Amino acid sequence: MDFNLSEEQQMVKDMCRKFAENELAPKAEHYDRTHEFPWEHVKKLGEMGMMGVVYPEEYGGSGMDYLTYAIAVEEISRGCASTGVIVSAHNSLCLSPIYYFGTEEQKKKYLPKLCSGEWIGCFGITEPNAGSDAAGTKTVAEFKNGKWVLNGTKNFITNGGVANVAVVLAVTEKGIGHKGLSMFIVEKGTPGFSVGKTEDKLGICASSTTELVFENCEIPEENILGKKGDGFKIAMHTLDGGRVGIAAQALGIAQAAMDAAVKYSLERVQFNQPIARQQAIQWMIADMATEIQAARLLTYQAAMLIGSGPDRRRYSKNAAMAKLFASETSHRATHKALQIFGGYGYIKDYPAERFYRDSRITEIYEGTSEIQRLVIASNVLSEYQ
Ligand SMILES: Cc1cc2nc3c(=O)[nH]c(=O)nc-3n(C[C@H](O)[C@H](O)[C@H](O)COP(=O)(O)OP(=O)(O)OC[C@H]3O[C@@H](n4cnc5c(N)ncnc54)[C@H](O)[C@@H]3O)c2cc1C
Repeated sequence: MDFNLSEEQQMVKDMCRKFAENELAPKAEHYDRTHEFPWEHVKKLGEMGMMGVVYPEEYGGSGMDYLTYAIAVEEISRGCASTGVIVSAHNSLCLSPIYYFGTEEQKKKYLPKLCSGEWIGCFGITEPNAGSDAAGTKTVAEFKNGKWVLNGTKNFITNGGVANVAVVLAVTEKGIGHKGLSMFIVEKGTPGFSVGKTEDKLGICASSTTELVFENCEIPEENILGKKGDGFKIAMHTLDGGRVGIAAQALGIAQAAMDAAVKYSLERVQFNQPIARQQAIQWMIADMATEIQAARLLTYQAAMLIGSGPDRRRYSKNAAMAKLFASETSHRATHKALQIFGGYGYIKDYPAERFYRDSRITEIYEGTSEIQRLVIASNVLSEYQ
């Protein structure tokens, strides 16, 4: 695989890196502490074309490839992990199912506003009793008097408190497991649709994570995405793409942690020399650099496979591998970075503890590491049967 970046990919990488260094990183600590949603950054990312990276220009998108998208999320997350997941959830989880499974009318109605960043999107699968097991969804959608009527609660939804549009999974036929699930588009302001509890989190504190509550929420018949019963298929397709976004987020956090730790190791003097001269520190730097590069190759490879066509059988395993390895790399790299900072790593005046907190979620959302291993193993086993 050729990872020499094209002119356009390099241009987006440079643009996002400059934005991350000049605008995101200097304010990341403020947003982490205040838990405010970074509206100023999201607005600018919309102007930069980063709120609809891979979607065609006819729908208001930037028409770029999936590798460019992964690079953009990596660079944005290097500056601010919260902004990274806001962009990733919006692009991969809300726009993607509308683009791949929506009708022409749905695409024309929703994509331009979402691609420009005028509207923010979210995606609701998780429920209090349906996390890793999405087939355990309890939210129901009943067809009554020409409308879908939704009842139930989604929880832990990224962008939930700020979203204008939610793509939501619900049961349309009970007793037949995942075949009875369908996906719906619900607009903010629809009577019966409200935002519930806002979560107080360990990391990515500037991202909005909330409940979505549906109480006799009536939506038009045409707001179903795909066909009745397609919901699980749409969810799995969407999560495959989303996992590459989260791999890129994990990569960006790991790179930021290594950058900070290496600079610190060159400045911090103990025993009359910079700690970077100690072999123990050098070994940590070597491990961080090697694992980050391996995670980057897996992530870029999965992104290129996604970019080569929508058939998820070709990239599902690679997306899971990229997410698993990049998130666990991020965990190890942020752990080592904090160690290199010593006691200062534990203090909020330095960024190492924020990187450590921010990285942890990448092993959990869009499928935990255990679920990624299940996906990888089932793909590998089927290759031998
Ligand atoms: C900050 C944040 C943002 C999120 N954003 C979104 C979002 O935008 N949209 C959305 O729909 N969801 C979102 N989620 C939900 C997230 O995807 C789930 O939390 C995750 O999938 C795990 O589900 P759970 O929390 O119910 O854990 P559980 O499924 O209860 O799992 C608990 C533990 O059991 C393990 N486990 C479960 N089943 C198995 C199995 N079969 N084999 C081995 N181990 C297993 C898990 O790996 C985990 O270690 C978010 C969560 C958080 C915390």
